[in-house]
Formats: sequence, C-alpha cells, structure tokens
Amino acid sequence: MTGFATQAIHAGQEPDPLTGAVVPPLYQVSTYRQESVGRPTGGWEYSRSGNPTRSALQDALAAVEGGEHGFATASGLAAADVLLRSVLRPGDHLVLPDDAYGGSYRLIARVFGAWGVEHTTVPVDDPAAIAEAVIPGRTAVVWLETPTNPVLGIADIRAAADAAHAGGALLVVDNTFATPYLQQPLALGADVVVHSTTKYVGGHSDVVGGAVVTGAGVRLPLGRSGPDGTDGLAAAVGFHLNAAGAVAGPFDAWLTLRGLRTLAVRMDRHSANALAVARHLEAHPAVRQVLYPGLPSHPGHALAGRQMRAAGGIVSVRLADEAAALRLTESTTVFTLAESLGGVESLIEHPARMTHASVAGTALAVPDDLVRLSVGIEDIVDLLADLDRALG
Ligand code: PLP
Repeated sequence: MTGFATQAIHAGQEPDPLTGAVVPPLYQVSTYRQESVGRPTGGWEYSRSGNPTRSALQDALAAVEGGEHGFATASGLAAADVLLRSVLRPGDHLVLPDDAYGGSYRLIARVFGAWGVEHTTVPVDDPAAIAEAVIPGRTAVVWLETPTNPVLGIADIRAAADAAHAGGALLVVDNTFATPYLQQPLALGADVVVHSTTKYVGGHSDVVGGAVVTGAGVRLPLGRSGPDGTDGLAAAVGFHLNAAGAVAGPFDAWLTLRGLRTLAVRMDRHSANALAVARHLEAHPAVRQVLYPGLPSHPGHALAGRQMRAAGGIVSVRLADEAAALRLTESTTVFTLAESLGGVESLIEHPARMTHASVAGTALAVPDDLVRLSVGIEDIVDLLADLDRALG
C-alpha cells in the first residue's frame, strides 16, 4: 500500500474487529476496566496515556508522512511545545526563519527564551545563512516552515538538513502549509515534522489539533539521552506527551482522521483554485505584488516545483498601503474575514493585525499592506468574482 490517498484512507484504519465498522470507532472514554491490578484490557489503561481513536490517527499520520511514530496533540502549538521540550535544554540554541507563524515564534522566543534557550533568525531561502547560524555542539534545533506563513517563502529542505546535521542539530519542518500530500520533508532529510492539523489535515474548520511525526531511528541531538535512558527521539516525545498531557481528545482525533481521508482530493482543488486566484490577481491593477510559489515570478518557484507536488492553497497579496489591505479584508463576501486557514471555505485576513500581531517589532514582522487568502474549494468563478468586486 504505497499510494498517498490509499494510505490516508486505510493506514491505521482497518475495519473494527468487533463489528466490522469500516470507520475507526470513536472511543470517547477516559479509562478502561482492568482484568486485575496492573493488567489493563488490551493494554489500554487511561486516555491521556493511550486511546484507540487517537492511536488510529497517529498511525495514519506516521504512514502518510513516511515517519516512524505519530503523536496527536491538543493543538499545533502543543505539538511544537512537546517536541521542543523533549529536545531542548537550558543554554541551547535554535535557528529559525525570519518568516514563520507568529505563535511558533512567540513560543520559541518568550516561553523557551525564559528557560534560557537562545535563538537566531535567518532568511528562510538562504541555506548558507542557515549553515552559518548553526553553532556546532550548541544548536540543538533548526526550525523551518516551508512555505512560510504568511509570506510564502520557500526553504531548501535538503540543504537545511545538511546544515543542521553538520552541526549536530535536528531539522524540524512545520509541514502545515504544504501537508504530507504536497511535500514529504522526512524523505528530503528532515528529522521530524510538526503540524497544525487544525488546518488542511482536519480541513473543515471544526477542530483544533496538532501532530509530531518522527523520522525512522532519529536520535536526540548533541549526544543526549531522554527520560527512559535511551537516545530515541520518539521515546522522548512519547514520554513528554504523557508527562505534560496535551494530547488530542478522542472526538478531535476522530474528526481529524475523517479530514485526513480526503486530504489528497482537497489539496488538488485548493492548489488549482489558488493558482487561478494568484494568476488573476497578478494581472489586477489594484494589486502591487502576489506572493505564491506556483507563479514563475516567485523567487522560490523552481525549488517549490522540485520539492512540492503543487504550490498549495495560500496566496498572499500586497496592496498600495494598509488602508487598502484592510478595505479588501472587509469587502469580500465569499471569502470570510477570519483567522486560521486550510478549511474547505475561503478565508481572508490581515496578518499584521491578526495572526501575526505577536511578532510586531521583531525580525518576523509582517508588512501591513499584506493580505493573506486561504483559498477554499468553492467554484473558482465565484472566488474570482468576489475578489474583483471587493478590489473594485
Ligand atoms: N504552524 C503554522 C504554520 C500555523 O499556521 C499555525 C496556526 O495558525 C500553527 C502552527 C499553530 O497551530 P494551532 O493554532 O493549531 O495551535
């Protein structure tokens, strides 16, 4: 079973042995009867430690990312937190791009920063700068998003992996924008992938969740061992997820798995619609610049073509000034003004004042004339007409 869509529909999702139900049941339960003390039924003892619905999602996520272990968390930031907590120690150093989701930056700079973790920001599309920023023996993590949120920069995953590994660090890729259908970071040399499954994997704007997927045989960096005395990354993440507890609840896991089954067809349609929107807006006189890796005018176009199956569903545009940007976000009717992205419905937002307000005044600050579109899977004629009307 190697095809992506086949895996997304079947991996970890065998028919229920008890009833034959073709969809993994929702085990909305916190605890399980024990046969005798210390002998839980089927190995399940408490749903923070393990739940069959969450396990089905985790196995499916590991399969579609080509990884060894999947972990489903309460949100995308909970995934980033449990991974970084498993890997980093006070005094460590981390490299991250100068464009990334504002919440990831806030976690790294303000939460881990307070625990003595330092970071350096580098241009995401400059592998030499990444290599230069890695401090051998001290940098534990190189963190990448590609495409980035919201400027859609493209990083060379293989070159970043080489730079990280040369200094003894792990390469983490936030694969939220691309999804495992469009991009396979582990196959390109990344050690671990994180997701906000709130976005495309869930796909219907009805659940918040996250995931960590570790690559086969990946070890903790800098010669470290984890709480169980081994050097395995997956064992360390599993320990921390149970110890700190930000797991995905059963119903959230069930909804996310339901979304994952249709990821391939949705991403094909998101990408086709986004390319049509990007081409249309590039020719529009009110739009100063369109940022979309599927356009030949994008500096990362060729690299995205090698690394990604298609360019995905997010398009950012720069207008004359902030007032024009705000006017656009408040003038559409099919595109709904809201934070988040990756659902079947089209969304529009102003990152500088909304999703990326937490990075104002930092190296990651977003231009205030920029508008981000999460292009949904509605009829393209309606999307183009809505944008034309709003820009007019
Ligand atoms: N990573 C990226 C690229 C995101 O866009 C987001 C949220 O917007 C996150 C991580 C955080 O995910 P969550 O909101 O599920 O915690």
